Amino acid sequence: MSRIAIVRKKAKLRGLLGIRARLVILALILVCPLMLDRVRLLEQTRTTEIAAVAATVATLAQRAADAQREVISSVEAVLKSAAYIHAAASAVDRSCSILRASLRVDLPSIRMLSIADSRGIIHCSTSAMFVGSDVSERAYFRRALESHDFVVSDFLIGAQSGKGTILAAYPVSAIDAGEQAVMIAGMNLDWLSDIMANLAGRPGVSVALIDGEGTVLATPPDQRSKVGRKLGQAELDFALGANPQNRDLATAQSDSGQKLSVSRIPGTNARLVVTLDEGTVSAAISREIRTAYLQLALVCVFVLLGALIAAERLIVRPISMLTSTAKRFAEGDWTARAARARLPSEFVPLARAFNAMAAQLGQRERELVAINSNLTVMASMDMLSGLANRRGFQNRLDIEWARGQQTGHCLALLMLDVDHFKPFNDSYGHPEGDACLSRIGEVLAAVADDTGGFAARYGGEEFCLLLPNTDATAARGVGELVRATVERLAVPHRTSEFQRVTVSVGVAAALPVGTAAAHELLEAADAALYAAKHGGRNTVAEHGLVRGADPGESMAIAS
Ligand code: GH3
Ligand code: MG
Ligand code: MG
Repeated sequence: MSRIAIVRKKAKLRGLLGIRARLVILALILVCPLMLDRVRLLEQTRTTEIAAVAATVATLAQRAADAQREVISSVEAVLKSAAYIHAAASAVDRSCSILRASLRVDLPSIRMLSIADSRGIIHCSTSAMFVGSDVSERAYFRRALESHDFVVSDFLIGAQSGKGTILAAYPVSAIDAGEQAVMIAGMNLDWLSDIMANLAGRPGVSVALIDGEGTVLATPPDQRSKVGRKLGQAELDFALGANPQNRDLATAQSDSGQKLSVSRIPGTNARLVVTLDEGTVSAAISREIRTAYLQLALVCVFVLLGALIAAERLIVRPISMLTSTAKRFAEGDWTARAARARLPSEFVPLARAFNAMAAQLGQRERELVAINSNLTVMASMDMLSGLANRRGFQNRLDIEWARGQQTGHCLALLMLDVDHFKPFNDSYGHPEGDACLSRIGEVLAAVADDTGGFAARYGGEEFCLLLPNTDATAARGVGELVRATVERLAVPHRTSEFQRVTVSVGVAAALPVGTAAAHELLEAADAALYAAKHGGRNTVAEHGLVRGADPGESMAIAS
């Protein structure tokens, strides 16, 4: 890329990165970290929230397992005591009444205690509805008879109550080999209702107690519709395979983002399956996060707008104001000043400095104008005589000529030349010559004052007197006045035939009309002066006059 192209690109980039853009970027730099931190915190909260729910669920599942374990051990103890009592009381054949009398009905872990004979018929029970029931086909009854040990049934629905229950059986044969009765206890599963109630109403958390086949036996009150159905295949596979006998609790993450937690009810094939749907659990916090994002976006927009408005008000506008004031000043408006009251305080020193500079420049300008006009005056003045110089005379002649053209009045001109001035200088010296010229200048100024004329030193020892609105006759009179006044000065001039300084005067007058030009008047006056010299000096000659009768007529020169 060529150097020029790079410079252009840089300039373009600078244009894009104006003060507004820079302030916006600055605001973003300030806001973005805060925004990102807030987002990070919200995301962290979401993770923490999900973890907290998972932990709660795991705790509840663990508590379920612990509660069941406690129930089972106390039921085992009760059954064993009952078996002893039965073995001891069977001899007196009052085992049933002794047992019922010895057992408290409000035991926390047992709902019902029954005694089945070797055929599986319940002939004694703390709950009358069970007396006569046949449990011979029940797996737990058979296992108890076979194993001669304490056994716990799977979770099953009671034939009479229709409610879920777990039964424990202990054969009396474990104590007394000759005795075939089996002690059966129905466990108190209030803990299960507690757990279920605890887990109810939690969005994203579904709980199911399943049997060994995967059929749902119990749920929290708000998920009752699942009871009697089978779990989904994936859940089922995990739930049934996850709990080897030595582990109470297992957790897994499913492909669809669900977290499964399975706890085995000790001594049974039943399992408590808790499914945690992270999406639903975090729905509330997700909503909060969305709101927070929206808030942050709004804050961003407000900050950006604020930055733009601040940039406009505090920087761009004051700069534009100062720029336009500087422009007005540059265009010659010396009164242009920055209005400090409307500027932010940071710009006040700049405005003050600008105003001071403007005031000083204004003052300089006024001084320059004054000096200039002085110079103009000086450039048009003759320092020796104090009269206008040739340049000043020329200007005035043009002006008076133009005025005469407008007014139609006659303009007269006197040309004077000091007679024998060279010999005067030679005789008296140059300074004396200067003094003489100065005195003649004074005479001419006085006459000009009196006649409303304009006197000038035309050059060397030649002078002019311009007489506006004066005809040839009057002009001749003024010429005679000048000549006589100079003669009366009586400045000695030993080499002159007049023995004093004298002047010759040429007079011309013209009507500035038609094609006549000012220089023609000058030439006529000069010709008249020439005639005066030839006429013997110290005299006045009138030469070349326009009588004004015929404006179209050119100036006539008379001798
Ligand atoms: P004429 O009567 O024919 O005019 O004779 P003249 O000697 O006056 O004329 P000339 O042109 O020969 O001489 C003019 C003299 O004026 C020559 C010069 O030394 C003198 N002069 C011109 N300007 C000045 C000046 O400023 N100061 C002085 N002291 N003399 C000047
Ligand atoms: Mg001369
Ligand atoms: Mg002369």
